Amino acid sequence: MIDMLKKEKKNKDAEIVFDFCVCCGETTGYKSDVSIDERIGYIEGTGQLCLNCYRELYPKGISGDD
Ligand SMILES: [Zn+2]
Repeated sequence: MIDMLKKEKKNKDAEIVFDFCVCCGETTGYKSDVSIDERIGYIEGTGQLCLNCYRELYPKGISGDD
């Protein structure tokens, strides 16, 4: 019983927090500690887009060098 409580607390502390899309508010699938260099759909000065919004807003990519 005590072990169960401890485990539950630990899980809560380690809860994964995902960034939300700045456009539609859905989770992006990127944890907030993921470097922006490793992300797709991160708009500098704006924030993280989900893939759906990113593809819709930037069908050719942001800078075109992708
Ligand atoms: Zn979105």
